[in-house]
Amino acid sequence: MIRIDVDEQSGFCTGVIKAVNAAENHLVGNNELCSLGELVHNPEEVKRLKGRGLNPVTYEEFDRLKNTTVLIRAHGEPPETYRKGKEKNIRFIDATCPIVKKLQKQIRDCYTALRGKEGSILIFGKSSHPEIRALLGQTDGNAIVARDPGELAALELKSPVFLFSQTTMNLREYDFFHESLRNRMSELGLDPEGDLHIYDTVCRQVSSREKYLEDFVSRYNLVLFVSGKESSNGKALYKVCREINKNTHFISSPGESDAYPLEGIVSIGICGATSTPRWLLSDVKARLRERINITGR
Ligand code: SF4
Repeated sequence: MIRIDVDEQSGFCTGVIKAVNAAENHLVGNNELCSLGELVHNPEEVKRLKGRGLNPVTYEEFDRLKNTTVLIRAHGEPPETYRKGKEKNIRFIDATCPIVKKLQKQIRDCYTALRGKEGSILIFGKSSHPEIRALLGQTDGNAIVARDPGELAALELKSPVFLFSQTTMNLREYDFFHESLRNRMSELGLDPEGDLHIYDTVCRQVSSREKYLEDFVSRYNLVLFVSGKESSNGKALYKVCREINKNTHFISSPGESDAYPLEGIVSIGICGATSTPRWLLSDVKARLRERINITGR
């Protein structure tokens, strides 16, 4: 009989749990609720929440809303969203993750302190990610966003340089990025020892999972990593798993597990991102069990 284990540490992080709870609590006494953007980067969970009455709206749709309640997801929003909401009599249920809120404040304080002086605020992250949109908003769009050390050569950096990371980035890639930034500053004749301020803002709920997952995936013949395709945390953690166990595969739904042959497999590990619901991990396990029962393995 093939052993199948679901990683106990996988599943929503506290920020996502808080946002999902906020939505579900509101929907107990109300038929529907709008969220600004999808609550979580996981299509299966978005579908489940839609069934309960949570409707994600785009920024264009939000601009047309008034006199209603809107949920702000864990990634947070820029100050402009709160200003618009006030003008349109929108009540916000603010589910911004406290860790993201703290990062927003650090960046805002840094920007305020820099006003009228020379210096650069650099954010290591993915420019299209909603958390980055909210972080950039703390600087009126004046921070620089980069995720690839190769981009540093084209950036106009002014000392002092303040470096932050999007919370869901890979810790090792952040380390590599700030080493590259140090070198770039030296090339430009800037002083990285005195003028580079690095903020440790990768969320530990992501980075501690990296170490845990490295150990988890090393124990199985086959690993199925379950995540929405758009989840940055999912992509980062999948990469970590894949480096340790080459027979790790990225799937987004139980049906996608069918693509992986079970011949010769004695153990399967199922794990996922901070945006993957626990029920989905259990569904993948149930699907595999069904397959195994049919083939009698
Ligand atoms: S990954 Fe960390 S910072 Fe981001 S929402 Fe989850 S708990 Fe908050």
